[in-house]
Amino acid sequence: MSSTDHLADRAARAKKIIAAPENFKVCEGCESIVTMRVASCPNCHGYRFDEAPERVIGQAELLASRPQQSVTAQDLS
Ligand SMILES: [Zn+2]
Repeated sequence: MSSTDHLADRAARAKKIIAAPENFKVCEGCESIVTMRVASCPNCHGYRFDEAPERVIGQAELLASRPQQSVTAQDLS
């Protein structure tokens, strides 16, 4: 149950990021997507980020496609 919720949450988050990539940036240290507001990465405490929208979108698509295919496919349809 909780893993399904987690996956759905992940896909929804990716969609939100892809819709507004200018609000996000990609951590150079751990490649997680964080909001523009943070000064350092909450995951690895890195402070180097890639703010290019195409990089943010690419990373969001990667994150969305990583979970089990069955759940992801249902989410996206
Ligand atoms: Zn990081």
